[in-house]
Amino acid sequence: MATSSTNTWRRSQETTLKDVVDDVSSSQKYHVESVVIVAVAFRKDATYPGCTLCRRRVHLREIGFTCVSHGAQQDAPIYRYRVRVLLSQPAHPGQELWVTLWDEQMRCFVEFDADVFNHLSTDEKAQTLQHLKGTRVRVDLTKETCGKYTSYNVTDLTVL
Ligand SMILES: [Zn+2]
Repeated sequence: MATSSTNTWRRSQETTLKDVVDDVSSSQKYHVESVVIVAVAFRKDATYPGCTLCRRRVHLREIGFTCVSHGAQQDAPIYRYRVRVLLSQPAHPGQELWVTLWDEQMRCFVEFDADVFNHLSTDEKAQTLQHLKGTRVRVDLTKETCGKYTSYNVTDLTVL
């Protein structure tokens, strides 16, 4: 097996979704080949209002939109995609995994940005997101555990 420059980066082509779920080490990154998007969660929060200086979600307070790092925003927030998709791995069935796609990955699928998406009708939004379904991709994932909750974030995605 090829070794990588950092011991936290798993570059094996054999990495499966089950490996990702079963791995108990913290702050891991994974590279998973040939997974298929089998479902897309369609909720009203497929986008989020982001800070103009960082990628954090801003929250509406009495003084306006506020970032926990940057305080009150002078400008309107920038909307970014945050889409939950279910991955399956045909070569290694038995483990599916809900992961989050962000703005960078959604650019592989959608030609317009999240602000435009927000102005679509509910049907158009659903159709746009359903286009992802059935796509075969390779992904880089991170796994973050906070208490009993574990979240999986896609940091890089290539449509195969
Ligand atoms: Zn910020």
